[in-house]
Amino acid sequence: MGERLDVTSSPAPAELCQVHNLWFEDGNVVLQAQNNLFKVYRGILSRESAVFEDMFSLPQPDTQSPDSDIYDGCQLVKMHDDPSDLGHFLNCLFDFEYLTDIDCCLIYTVVLRLATKYEATALRKRVVKILQFVYPDELKLWDEVRNAGDYFPESHPLTGLWLTDFASHIAVVNAARETDTLILLPAAMYAIFMKGASWIVTSKTAAELSNVNKDALLASQPAIAKLSRRHSFALLYGEDSHLSAQCQSSSRCSKNRRKLTTRLELSALGYIIEPFHQIPFTPGTTPANFCTECRTTFKASYESGRQAAWEALPRAFGLPSWEKMQKAKEDENEEDEGMEEDKEDL
Ligand SMILES: [Zn+2]
Repeated sequence: MGERLDVTSSPAPAELCQVHNLWFEDGNVVLQAQNNLFKVYRGILSRESAVFEDMFSLPQPDTQSPDSDIYDGCQLVKMHDDPSDLGHFLNCLFDFEYLTDIDCCLIYTVVLRLATKYEATALRKRVVKILQFVYPDELKLWDEVRNAGDYFPESHPLTGLWLTDFASHIAVVNAARETDTLILLPAAMYAIFMKGASWIVTSKTAAELSNVNKDALLASQPAIAKLSRRHSFALLYGEDSHLSAQCQSSSRCSKNRRKLTTRLELSALGYIIEPFHQIPFTPGTTPANFCTECRTTFKASYESGRQAAWEALPRAFGLPSWEKMQKAKEDENEEDEGMEEDKEDL
């Protein structure tokens, strides 16, 4: 009777489970996240992560610390990460192809967070580079992503990566902000912006956005509307009655201009004309229907204006300029390379 009572009064410990693809028989450290166990290699963890390097450089406890224990003859380190997140992170460190085989940006944000947390700088650099394929810092690359549709084409190194998932845009924006990876923010925030302001306020998916990002997105609307009118479509919305002073057909071009502005307004995001809206100049389209002089002038103004709008995009979201963010990223990489050199000197 007494035994029975003892058993029922203390909760049974959750059964520990070895994660099979991260359980190396000859591993020399066991990491535990909840009831999941990973038997891996201290040397590789130390090489890849400054946090693990520091941890393992300390005198190794003989189960002195309440957080340390022994399992399967190895030091057991209790981790406070979600087991699935930790699994993705460890797989990236122990399986060379794992990172590029991921097919969803959500998982990349998990790796970005843990690579930042554990100061795994080489992995962090690789994951930022991959996320930049989807959320680039150049307009030409942004156009390529948008034209790719749902997936990158077969020829792309990330073919099969799902591109239009709003939950992923939101996860990337939140993770980029938290891990100080600002370079990803303008394109990722713009991807959310394109869904419209009311969606940002009311959607359940958008509720996941952290407040700082939600505020920045809502505050950006007038600035983005300005990008269209002052840059991309400045000539169309300008006060000059002709797009080109050498216009060859005033009435035809005026009529065509009205038609084009109406079309743009119909495709607008709420009241905002999309500054990076791609307009074709192929024969038969409205933009191609201006006289030669107006078409040439308008096309040149649209192309340079679109580029100027892209340059101004980070500011619209209250972020530093592209140049400053690119410099910060380079400095981080150089710091990393500097550390590698220091190691070699030793
Ligand atoms: Zn004309």
